Formats: sequence, structure tokens, C-alpha cells
Amino acid sequence: MIIEFRPEISDSFINDFADEVRGHVRRFNGGRFVIVSDYYNFDIGSKALNDKIIRTFKSVDDWPLSSRALKPENTVIDLGDGIIFGRDRTVLIAGPCAAENEERLFESAEYLKSLGIKILRAGLFKPRSSAYSFQGLGRDGLKLLEAVKRDFALKIITEIYDSAHLDDIAAVADIIQIGSKAMFNHEILRRCGRLKKPVLLKRNFSATADEWLESADTILSEGNPNVILCERGIRTYEKSSRFTLDLNSAIYVKHHSHLPLLIDPSHAYGESYGIPELALSAAALSVDAIMLEVHPCPEEALCDRRQALSHDVFIKLKNDLADICRIVGRTLV
Ligand code: PEP
Ligand code: MN
Repeated sequence: MIIEFRPEISDSFINDFADEVRGHVRRFNGGRFVIVSDYYNFDIGSKALNDKIIRTFKSVDDWPLSSRALKPENTVIDLGDGIIFGRDRTVLIAGPCAAENEERLFESAEYLKSLGIKILRAGLFKPRSSAYSFQGLGRDGLKLLEAVKRDFALKIITEIYDSAHLDDIAAVADIIQIGSKAMFNHEILRRCGRLKKPVLLKRNFSATADEWLESADTILSEGNPNVILCERGIRTYEKSSRFTLDLNSAIYVKHHSHLPLLIDPSHAYGESYGIPELALSAAALSVDAIMLEVHPCPEEALCDRRQALSHDVFIKLKNDLADICRIVGRTLV
């Protein structure tokens, strides 16, 4: 149960009430709420709260702060320069899986900037499944991302997998990406929740949509309202593609959550030939953003080579995405 208190009620009253019912006090969207787990059910009628509360309600599941039951209107995240998540735009993010070296990163940045891309993706800390794969440039790459921001006026999204790196990453990233494998890392979730910087929360490939939204709530409950959800494919019995893009979950979270949604077709399909079709399907679903792995020379990419789109494929796809967005009443930015 979630109880929203009136603005004139003192913090100390709300804190004492929360202690009594084993609830958690949360501030969100200008309001103060006490969230009580269903395990501690109690009779609200016996608490003589009528003149102190605005409403009580239940959320769909254990993610009240992400839920439209609490906040019916979309969360809007405005990064400036026309980059707005949560309204009538679909933001296209592109770049290599990983920053590999200065030359390659600048080549990507220059090309994508020339196409009007405003946010570059490039990982520095790459938690690869194989210990023998390229693990990213790590801290050494931070200055490359800074240079890209400065020289090309691009915004940057980059991934975190160890909370010890958070301060360094937050100093350069415009959006912090919590990777699929880190979706259950509560230290990262909570520490990102104490920032105001937008956070892209990727769904773990073995997580249900509700578990993904519970992780979003962990971030929101620390005070950061700027969370973007990312569907990137889940593990199923199907082996014909790397993962299975769960478009059902995209519809589910758009319906039940106010948070913006990004779809990542690259990691879902895992082979470059299937990614344009999935990206177009995502655009047709009116998602808030699409993120694609693009590389100047895919056959030489150090990371996720098979799913990297070439520049030629990307430019055509970008035009097709703009067409689909127009048909569904959105603008591709
Ligand atoms: C990535 O975006 O490069 C990445 C590693 O994605 P995921 O965490 O979804 O596997
Ligand atoms: Mn990748």
C-alpha cells in the first residue's frame, strides 16, 4: 500500500507513522509517500488518517514509484539541444560497443555528428562474458570521451559495472548506462539514485519485466527521478538469435510505467542483418529512444563485432526510422 500525505503534515509525523507500520518514507514528484509492503498489511481505517492524507493506493506490483498509479503522466527528461525523452520524439543513440582508440572513436564521432546524431554511445568498462575478450579502455578512456564531447559537441552515454568508477563516469557521461548484468547490483542502483544525472537501466536478460521495474524503483527511491528503461532482449529457449527482443514487455512498461523507454535491437538480435528490421519495429511502437551499435569498420570491431552496423547500413536505417516515426506521429532526433 502507498499512502500520500498532505503537504502540511510534518516530516516527524510521517516518519513516526512509517516506523509504526514498518513503512518506508519516499519523496517523489513533489510528494511524500509511505510505502508499506503487503507483508505488513494493516487496517488503514484504524489509523485516523483521513485529514492527513491525499490518497492511498496499490501499485501493480512492487514498483510503486515507477508506476502510473502514482504518476499518470510521462516522466520527461530533457537533455537540451532538442533531446527530449518521454514526449513526442524518438531519440536515436548510436556508436560503437566500446571506445577502442582515439582514431576509431573520433571517426565514429565525426561521422555520426555529420548525420545529426546527438548522443554517442561508447563503453569504457566492458564486463565481457569471456575473460579473454577486450575488456574496454577503462579509466584511460575517460579523456577520450571528454575530448569527443568537447570537439564534436556530442552527448555521451557510457556504461558502469563497478560503483567504484561512478564518480569518474558521472563526471563525463550525460547518461549513465547500467548494463544488463548490473541490473541486480544494488550498490550501483542506489548510488546512481543519489545523483540527478539520467540513468539508462538495461533489463537483465534473465529478469522479468517486474524485476526490471523493481530495480528502477530502487534508483527512484534514492531520489533520482531521471530513469530511462532499456529493453535489450531476454534469454529464451530460442537460439536463432543472440537474445529475444521482448516487445511485449515494451508495451507492458509503457502502459504501466511513466518512465521513458529505449529499445536496443543490437544486443537483442546480435547479428547485423536482423537489426534494421527490429529497430523499425521499435520505432513503430512509439518508443522514446533507440540505441544502435555502429562501427566504422565492423569486421575490425573489438567488441560485439557481428552486431555492429556499417555506416552504409546505418544511414539508410536512419532515414527509414525517420519515416516510421513520422507515420506514428513522432519526430526522430
Ligand atoms: C552494451 O550496451 O554494450 C552492453 C554491454 O549491453 P548489455 O548490458 O545489454 O549486454
Ligand atoms: Mn555491445
